[in-house]
Amino acid sequence: MQKYILAFDQGTTSSRSIVFDHHGKIIGQNQQEFPQILPTPGHVEHDPEEIWRTQIETAKGAIAAAKINIEQVAAIGVTNQRETTLLWERATGKPVANAIVWQSRITTPICHQLSHDGHGATIRDKSGLIIDPYFSGTKLQYLLDSDPSLRRRAEDGELCFGTVDSFLLWRMSGGKLHMTDVTNASRTMLMNLHSLEWDPELLEILNIPAAVLPEIRSSSEVYGMTDASLLGREIPIAGIAGDQQAATFGQTCFDVGSAKNTYGTGAFLLMNVGHQPVASDNNLLSTVGWKIGDQTTYCLEGSVFIAGAVVQWLRDGLGIIDTSEAVEPLALSVPDNGGVYFVPAFVGLGAPYWDPRARGVILGLTRGTTAGHIARAAIESMAYQTRDLVEAMQRDAGVPLAQLQVDGGAAINDDLMQFQSDLLGTKVRRPEVFETTALGAAYLAGLAVGYWEDLDALKRNWQLDREFSPAAEEAQIEHLYGQWRRAVGRSRDWAQE
Ligand code: ADP
Repeated sequence: MQKYILAFDQGTTSSRSIVFDHHGKIIGQNQQEFPQILPTPGHVEHDPEEIWRTQIETAKGAIAAAKINIEQVAAIGVTNQRETTLLWERATGKPVANAIVWQSRITTPICHQLSHDGHGATIRDKSGLIIDPYFSGTKLQYLLDSDPSLRRRAEDGELCFGTVDSFLLWRMSGGKLHMTDVTNASRTMLMNLHSLEWDPELLEILNIPAAVLPEIRSSSEVYGMTDASLLGREIPIAGIAGDQQAATFGQTCFDVGSAKNTYGTGAFLLMNVGHQPVASDNNLLSTVGWKIGDQTTYCLEGSVFIAGAVVQWLRDGLGIIDTSEAVEPLALSVPDNGGVYFVPAFVGLGAPYWDPRARGVILGLTRGTTAGHIARAAIESMAYQTRDLVEAMQRDAGVPLAQLQVDGGAAINDDLMQFQSDLLGTKVRRPEVFETTALGAAYLAGLAVGYWEDLDALKRNWQLDREFSPAAEEAQIEHLYGQWRRAVGRSRDWAQE
């Protein structure tokens, strides 16, 4: 009987499930969007029940689409939107609040206080992270502070904290497993990057009771089985990684120095730096890539909060396109950006600026500016932000980037990829299977159950779809990039206390 691996890919705007075969090819998939809850500007929540419902429905949908039966699923791998913070009752599995989404800036005041109290260096040295509302720790602190009874119940061990992977694992196992993997734990600001354990000093700084925390496990092992009632049979859950780490694994960036950039809602550039964490001098994050057996691989990461989401905003906020794809002909309706620059700092700026107060700006408008110029500037903003990350990474790594492997929904845009290659002056390589996030989770699970033998077997699966090479004039590119940097300055000037 032919066997397959099922990946759960719980993303920011949708849940997805994909069935992969031995070659890493997609056999069947299913996807469902779910609502974004926006209670106040800069704050974003998800309903945990919607996360769960859509994820399980898409799992069933993917199995049906693949035309296989449940006996043929060898294992399940889980990947997820990272940092998003959930809190639920240990006794019932019922969430006590909506999930606070990674994009939310609700904990900006807590972060200011942490910086003001001088905790920046300790947090950075121990967790590899920068004080920013992005990470789970302050989100959990906010939830516990929002209601004294929650804090008391957390201290008494009645509540479970988890990132989305933990919550899914809990539900999949029928409430038996309260675990997370090292990659997700490395985004909480609570884990020590060197010992890979919850750090007592960080817990104290953030006022988090240890009783609320899940157990930290590797990224590739059999954590337990799904409850038989869920999909009709017990299935091993055997791989977990946060979405960006999973994508890096799915892109088979196994060599030191190899890097990938994902253009999804946000953009995330990760570079493999080997088996020791590398501290960044250029405002990047130091993070766990994956842990397999006893071996941990670390990455440097640059995180940009708004990338493809700028296209969603053109569609839903500004209404100048009906579908995401329609941005391509609109951007091509003009020969160049016409001097228009768009810094989409809708939720502040992430790496390398880390400025939660920055706000979006569109600059350089003239009477001749059209929707085409704005669309083009929006597309270009993804490439400029990526160059900001690459520059920081090259300074940290001390070597130029040899090439960039790309994926994510917006990487489908050929013009964006060509502009990216021009702007970086390096080759941009897009694989055939773009769903590298789900593929990475499948790989981690498949390795744990012996479906794939080793990393070399995975590498052989990577197939090139298209390679983009730099073709633009350097002086022209440097002019554009210089203007972008000026525009970023304006978006930060706009901020007020
Ligand atoms: P996520 O997993 O973060 O939800 P995806 O990897 O599915 O995101 O990517 C979807 C993003 O890609 C959306 O923000 C969408 O606006 C953007 N996108 C989709 N098609 C295009 C396109 N042709 N050009 C540019 N951006 C696009």
